[in-house]
Amino acid sequence: MARGLLFVISGPSGVGKNSVLNGVLKERNDIFYSISATTRPPRRNEVNGKDYYFLTKDEFEKAIKSGELLEWALVYGNYYGTPRKAVEERLNNGQHVIMDLDIQGAANVRNNLPEAVLIFLLPPSREELKRRLLARKSEAKAAVEKRLACLEKELASITRYDYVVMNDLLENACRKVAAIITAEEARVDRGYWREQFLF
Ligand code: 5GP
Repeated sequence: MARGLLFVISGPSGVGKNSVLNGVLKERNDIFYSISATTRPPRRNEVNGKDYYFLTKDEFEKAIKSGELLEWALVYGNYYGTPRKAVEERLNNGQHVIMDLDIQGAANVRNNLPEAVLIFLLPPSREELKRRLLARKSEAKAAVEKRLACLEKELASITRYDYVVMNDLLENACRKVAAIITAEEARVDRGYWREQFLF
């Protein structure tokens, strides 16, 4: 059986990664969303085990040491990482996996799993990003500043991605990401046609 495809979505804080991911996953409920671990405190409405696995710093560092994480990074002052087991199991069973990673995580995945598909979600402008980040009111002012301070570095990393999708209108962005998934499945070198055609 052909392995599943791994899709990585990155983009600056506030660009709307979660909304786009939710939209895509509604259409493509065959795809597995990898739930990350983090030491960031939960936001209002965030549920442990659904949005993230919320860990203490100690727990996270133990997970690093024991090799439980496929990748991890310090992002905006907190640890974030991908539990390895669920992702490997799904991919080996032929299921596609999608994950939301910062630019360091995406670069690590690119090095370790070169066949992964990297998608960068771009805001329409710097001003619009700032507006969205402030409007969601999930972070204190200092945290917002910290997130905005990373923007230029994040934009500079776009050339390491395979696709860039502008999140101008949520529907458009979801449609484009879904189209990328469909196109990747149709690539000859992915080999899915071999399983679909009755020779
Ligand atoms: P937030 O705190 O806004 O949920 O996420 C902050 C940043 O961490 C985002 O850029 C997001 O893509 C990134 N992130 C979330 N989960 C992971 C992960 O498992 N690994 C890495 N490297 N970054 C992650």
